[in-house]
This record gives sequence, C-alpha cells and structure tokens, in this order.
Amino acid sequence: MTTTRRAATPPLSTTPREPSALAPWRFLRCLLDLLVPACCAGCGVAGVSWCPDCHGAFGRPHPVHRPPLVRGPEAYAVGAYEGVARSAVLAYKERGRRDLADPLGAALAAALPLLPRAGPARDGVWWLVPVPSRGAAARRRGGDHVRRLATRCAAHLALSGRPAVVASGLRLARGVVDAVGLDAAGRVANLAGRVRPRPGGLPPPGTPVVLLDDVITTGATAAAGVAALRSVGVPVAAVLALVSAGGPGRRGRGGCDAAGGARSLPSGGRGVGRRGDTRGSLR
Ligand SMILES: [Zn+2]
Repeated sequence: MTTTRRAATPPLSTTPREPSALAPWRFLRCLLDLLVPACCAGCGVAGVSWCPDCHGAFGRPHPVHRPPLVRGPEAYAVGAYEGVARSAVLAYKERGRRDLADPLGAALAAALPLLPRAGPARDGVWWLVPVPSRGAAARRRGGDHVRRLATRCAAHLALSGRPAVVASGLRLARGVVDAVGLDAAGRVANLAGRVRPRPGGLPPPGTPVVLLDDVITTGATAAAGVAALRSVGVPVAAVLALVSAGGPGRRGRGGCDAAGGARSLPSGGRGVGRRGDTRGSLR
C-alpha cells in the first residue's frame, strides 16, 4: 500500500497560503521565542518545544468509534485528549505554539502507514485532506491549524519516501457556530449541510484520501467531511486525528493488528478525556 519512492519534490499544497497577518500577541509570541528558547509544551523542560519523553504520548493509532462514523471509514487517533497530549494540542491550537506543528505532524505521519485501509493513490502519492476550520477561528489562530498540521505531516511522509499532497478539499459554509458546549446532536445539527467540497481543492475523483483532524470528540466533523467528499466521488480511506476525547468508543475492536501494529495504546494515550473540556477541538 505504500511506496518506498522518495519524493522528488517537496510536498505540494493545492490550497491558498495561510493568512500572513498575525495578531499582535502572536507577533510578541514569535519575538519571545527568538529571545527565550522554547519549553516543552507537555512538561515544561527548557530548550525544546516537545521533548522525547512527552512524544511518547503519541504512538500507534487506536480505533475511535463514534455513532456519526458508524457507516463511514474507520477512524483512528494516535493519543488521548488528556495529560501532555492534551497540553500539546491546546498549546498548539489556542496558545500560539505553531512550533508544535512539526512534531505533531510527525506523529500523524508515523501513524499513516499503519492504518489498515489507507494508502497512496496508484501513482504512489498519499492524499491528505484536513478538516476545515471556521474562518473566524482560523484568523484568530493565525492560520488554519489542521491544514498546517497536514502540511507538516506530508513533509514527514516525504522524508520517509512517501510523497504526499495536502488537498484542502473541504470548507465550512456560513452558519457554523463554535461548538463549545454543544452535545453530540447539537454538533451534528451545527454542521448539517455546512461542510462542503471546495472546488479547486479536491483531488481527482476516485482518489483515495485520508481525512486529518486534530481532535475527534463526537465524530460529527469527521462524518460531515466524509459525506462531503463522497458526494463528489472522493473516497475517504480513513480518518486520522491526533487525539480522541471521551475514550475510544464502545465498539472496542482492539488496535491495528490488521496492519501489524500493536493493540495497546501509547503511553499517556489511555483513559477518557474530560467531556465538555475540548476547547480547541472545535472548528
Ligand atoms: Zn516534555
């Protein structure tokens, strides 16, 4: 399913660049990073943005079962929304730690070849589609954080000999509100009909893609993305997220043995995330 061919060119992106304008506090954050070395977003150790010990919070992909995805492709996460993994996601998403895009993207890239049904297209290229963010949220964060993750993921795939393309083939229509505080039904209703294909950002019809997300909570966002892509003939082979909030779900089918992977969750990747505390998991 994978190719050993090294990418001849850097990963491509079929999407517009991220907004270049930074909010003042983000500029200060960047300036501070130049003056003071970063500290680990998980444990606070100085000198690195994400230390090897904390990187153990992300490991082999584990299945995530959510009702909205019951008819969709299999969904996976490489960690749980708790402990240092949660700290990293929040720091990256809500506290301006863009430097974490690289190690988090690397964690996704390491997991992709382990997904049982995911693989590259016939030409050996992996196609990655990030879930879309609300425009207001992306502007507040200084860019689309999942797309940035996908771009770093593609770069790490290429370094391992797996050329990859990031295709921002989805967008959110107007009317989607911040999902903080919404229950599962509310999140589904919030997104109903509002996750749409983005013309010009899609891969050719029939090209298998992996849908990338940062946090799977209820599965509503991923399910809406899968449906939108299917509507234009783009099959989603798998959904892959950094973390799952609320545990793996009820249909505990073990891990990735079908792909030769382990059944156990990574260190720090067990347990149940705090429900209702998924700030940053929301579009
Ligand atoms: Zn650390």
